[in-house]
Amino acid sequence: MKKAFIDQNLCVACGCCLTACKLNAVSIPKGVCAMVDYSKCVGCGMCAKKCPASLITIKEESANE
Ligand code: SF4
Ligand code: SF4
Repeated sequence: MKKAFIDQNLCVACGCCLTACKLNAVSIPKGVCAMVDYSKCVGCGMCAKKCPASLITIKEESANE
């Protein structure tokens, strides 16, 4: 299944992806950087569309997930 991957070096924790995700798969721990809960994410791409800096990529889950 595809999942959302966030460039965590560039994320500014604006929260746009968090509000875009209907499954509550995105959180911003300590307000520092957005993180995806891969047990919830279905790779729909809604968060990627909303990131103003286009930091979210939708791709196949890596082997270590
Ligand atoms: S791809 Fe969809 S389900 Fe996954 S984090 Fe983004 S909005 Fe949520
Ligand atoms: S929308 Fe983009 S910059 Fe904003 S919190 Fe999400 S990943 Fe970070």
